[in-house]
Amino acid sequence: MGQHHKHALTRRDFLKLGGIALGGAALACGGGTQVVELTAVPTPATQPVPTLAVGEIADIILVNGNVVTIDAKRTTAKALAIKNGLIHFVGDDQGARGMASETTQIIDLMGRTVTPGLIDAHCHLSACGLLGTAYVDISWPAVFTIADMQAKLAERIAVTPPGEWVVASGWVTFEGRYPDKRDLDPISPNHPVFVLNQGGHMAAVNSLALEMAGVTAATPDPGNGRFLREENGEPSGTILNHPAMDYFRRLWPRDMLSVDVMEQSILGPQATFAAMGVTSFQDVYARDMDRLQAYFNLASRGEMSIRGQIMNVLEYAQELDGRIADIEAIRYESDYMHFAGAKFQVDGALEASYTNEPHNGLAWNVSIWKPRDLEDAVAAFHDAGYQVSLHTIGDAALDMALDAIEKAMRANPRADPRHRIEHSILNSDEAIQRVKDLGVIISTQPTMIRAFADACERIWGEERAQRIIPTRTWLDMGIPVCLSSDAPSLPWWDPMSTLYASIVRQSWTKKPVSPEQALTIDEAMYAHTMAGAYADFAENKKGSLEAGKFADLAVWHDNPYTVATEDIPFLTVDLTMVGGKVLYQAG
Ligand SMILES: [Zn+2]
Repeated sequence: MGQHHKHALTRRDFLKLGGIALGGAALACGGGTQVVELTAVPTPATQPVPTLAVGEIADIILVNGNVVTIDAKRTTAKALAIKNGLIHFVGDDQGARGMASETTQIIDLMGRTVTPGLIDAHCHLSACGLLGTAYVDISWPAVFTIADMQAKLAERIAVTPPGEWVVASGWVTFEGRYPDKRDLDPISPNHPVFVLNQGGHMAAVNSLALEMAGVTAATPDPGNGRFLREENGEPSGTILNHPAMDYFRRLWPRDMLSVDVMEQSILGPQATFAAMGVTSFQDVYARDMDRLQAYFNLASRGEMSIRGQIMNVLEYAQELDGRIADIEAIRYESDYMHFAGAKFQVDGALEASYTNEPHNGLAWNVSIWKPRDLEDAVAAFHDAGYQVSLHTIGDAALDMALDAIEKAMRANPRADPRHRIEHSILNSDEAIQRVKDLGVIISTQPTMIRAFADACERIWGEERAQRIIPTRTWLDMGIPVCLSSDAPSLPWWDPMSTLYASIVRQSWTKKPVSPEQALTIDEAMYAHTMAGAYADFAENKKGSLEAGKFADLAVWHDNPYTVATEDIPFLTVDLTMVGGKVLYQAG
């Protein structure tokens, strides 16, 4: 049940709840002052002295390199020795060679830089594998115009029997507007069409899809979903948020996203990730039980090649019924698979971000969850020992997420829950302080600055657009921050783009976005390795190159610490290893 890892805790803040703002509510528990243990920034535990027993020899040694360990002292070394998938020695060439015999594989790094394998702390690996297979790939910016999208869809329609669904994913906006049925109808008179946007919170459908779903001018908006309307009240075909999208998704054939299909969609992208130096991922969108089953199946058959942490998404309050028991009935845990807990979308995409002040998007005062339902669901997973992770774009969504986390922690102050906020794009100063006080982890994507800062300015205005993703403020306050790609919800799946965007904060039109919030390469590397391990309760197993940890590493062709900043996005890796196995080697 729940968090089963043993984690040697390091520094802890002991914080009296009576001393922090609780919205005026009296503490629910009686008797004395309640104390909650809240975790401060992780400090890696010191490892035992790294030696192989007399007569033991290493399986692999890497020598003659620049080994950036990301340990607590930021040591660099020359060499590593690996046995049984674990690092046994980090130090000089002589020490590593002393553990080698004629059966040892020796990798001469020829001066190249080795870092811990990158940890992508927020992505949708299983959805990456659907692009180009179950879903037509219309990813921005490769697909840039309405005509580009129509051409891609027409190709699939031509080979799809009439009446069958055509589903695509990846659009952002086209010339500043959202696609609707008028863009889709001309190419799809005989096929229902559903095109998901890149963030996954908006879609467009054609007239046939609206007809099949029975959505008309008379259909009310479902809960916190929206059917956008034309002037005459007819649905335009642009739809917002999951409750509206589900009117159509529930009509898809069951085998479109079957366990088999999902297994294939998980297997495919792992090699792509490994080729970019990624050795662990956290899929925060394992929405349905079939997708969880696919992950557990692959892990139990030993078919995961990189290590996964997965979270189950709940979209509706009703989905909580029996969900934890259902998950525990099929759950499989290994060094390659960790089921972490639940993920909740508190608001939608930027256009529908839930903010404290109005904005110019499509809807500003819409949260996907009702506060009370969210509190109940967060508490249920918290009480069962799991992590929760909450997607927030707007500042009101963040406040609501923190309310739910704080309430669950107050009611049940168990040690070190490490709850997470995903994205955390717009933050008030008060919310940042609450994140710190609650020991909450920020899991964010600096590439969103590149993708969306211009749109943030259009929708939120200049002042709010300059305050997005305050990485420097978070780090200076000692808040754990992990970095990630959000692939395929963003077009850059590679850590290089993420590292670069955390250093050079520029919009798509190259406008600087609070450059004083930039990270250094070392801070960014830490946030893409150790901080991701901490977010997975795995900081004693991975995230740095230290004795006793998994031999998960990336060998870079050029040194990320010394190349010109503008070259960081073009860095490549020459070799990626997971558990001492070479998964990728440049040709
Ligand atoms: Zn995401």
